[in-house]
Amino acid sequence: PSESAVRDFWQWLSDEGVANSSSSPPPVKPEFVPEGLGLVAQRDITKNEVVVEVPKKLWINPDTVAASDIRRVCGGLKPWVAIALFLLREKALGLASSWRPYLDILPRATDSPIFWSEEELSEIQGTQLLSTIMGVKEFVQSEFIKVEDDVILPNKDLFPSPITFNDFLWAFGILRSRAFPRLRGENLALIPLADLINHSSSITSEDSFWEIKEKGFFSRELIFSLRTPIYVKAGDQVYIQYDLAKSNAELALDYGFIESRPDREVYTLTLEITESDPFYGDKLDIAETNGIGETAYFDVILGSPLPPSMLPYLRLVALGGADAFLLESIFRNSVWGHLELPVSRANEETICRVVRDACKSALSAYHTTIEEGQAYPLLEI
Ligand code: SAM
Repeated sequence: PSESAVRDFWQWLSDEGVANSSSSPPPVKPEFVPEGLGLVAQRDITKNEVVVEVPKKLWINPDTVAASDIRRVCGGLKPWVAIALFLLREKALGLASSWRPYLDILPRATDSPIFWSEEELSEIQGTQLLSTIMGVKEFVQSEFIKVEDDVILPNKDLFPSPITFNDFLWAFGILRSRAFPRLRGENLALIPLADLINHSSSITSEDSFWEIKEKGFFSRELIFSLRTPIYVKAGDQVYIQYDLAKSNAELALDYGFIESRPDREVYTLTLEITESDPFYGDKLDIAETNGIGETAYFDVILGSPLPPSMLPYLRLVALGGADAFLLESIFRNSVWGHLELPVSRANEETICRVVRDACKSALSAYHTTIEEGQAYPLLEI
C-alpha cells in the first residue's frame, strides 16, 4: 500500500469515530514497519492497556455480507467463501465502495507459499509443507470452481468484471493471515485496524489480548477491543503472540513467516494398521480402545520427547509371530500397558526398521542433502 492509502485509511477511521473516539489522542497509529504495516505507539502504553477499539459496523463478517447487495446469492455459501466474494466485489467497485480505504491498505500478497511461483515451490520439494500447500491450493481451486459456476457467472449484474482463481486465492490468503485465531467459521471476521497488529516471538503469554464486548451502558453496539500484552514505549511497535501452538509449517502457510525455535519444528508421522494385516481386526480393536484409530497422526517435535502413545502404537502395528499371543482377548485390558515397554527383540527391530525406512523415503524426496540444506536454513522447514 502507498503512504496516501494509509493516510486515507486513518482519515476514514477517524470519520467513523474510531481514531478520535475519546478526547485524548489514540495510543497507536498505523505505520510502515519491517513486517509491512503495523501499529506504532504514539505515547508510552502500559501493559494490558486497550490500544484499539473497533465498532461492529466496521467489521467484515457474515452479517456484513448479509446486509450487502450480494446477500441474495450468498445463501448456503461457507462463511469464508461469502466474505471472499464480498471482498472481491467491493474491490471491483473501486471508488464506489464504502470499504475502499480499508481494501487499499491490504497487502497484495503475503510471503505464504500459497502465493509462491512453481519455481519458488520447487525449493521446498520433499517437505511436508509443500504437500500441505498443494492440498490447500487444490481445496481453494475446487471451492472456486463451484462458486464460479453457481454464483459468479450466473450473476453478471453483481459481478460484471471477471474474477480469477488468483483473485479468489488472494482473498483466501487475506482471511487466513488476518482473522484472529478464535474467529473462525460463522464468527469469521476481518477487523480493520486491529488486523494491523504484528506477531513477536518474544511475547509468550497465552492470555487473550482481545475481547468482544458491548460498547457501554447505554449502547448495545459490539466493539472489538485489543490490548497490549506488554508495556510499550512511545515510537515502538505493539505486538502480540499469534499462536504458540502452531508449527513452522502452519505459520508459513497462514502468515508467511517462521521462527527459529526447535518447538516450532514439527513433522507429522502418519501410521496405519493395514487391512492386509492378518491381525487387522484385533489390532484395530486395541487401538480404538486406547483412543487411536486405523490411521494415527503423531507430531514429532524437534528436541522434545516422542508423543507418549507413538511407540506403543508402533509396537502394536508391528506385532506378529511369536508375540501375537498378546492380541488374544484375555489380554485386551492389559495389552496397552505391555506395549509401553519393548515386547520382544524382533518387534523392536521391526519398528526401528519401519521408522528408518519411513525417514529414508521422506528424505529422498528432497533435492538437496542435509549439508546443502544447512547452508540455506529456510529450506529445511
Ligand atoms: N503487517 C500486516 C500488514 O501489513 O497488513 C499486518 C498484520 S496481518 C494480521 C499478518 C501479516 O503480517 C502476516 O501474514 C505477515 O505478512 C506479517 N507479519 C506479522 N508478524 C510478522 C513477523 N513477526 N514477521 C514477519 N511478518 C509478519
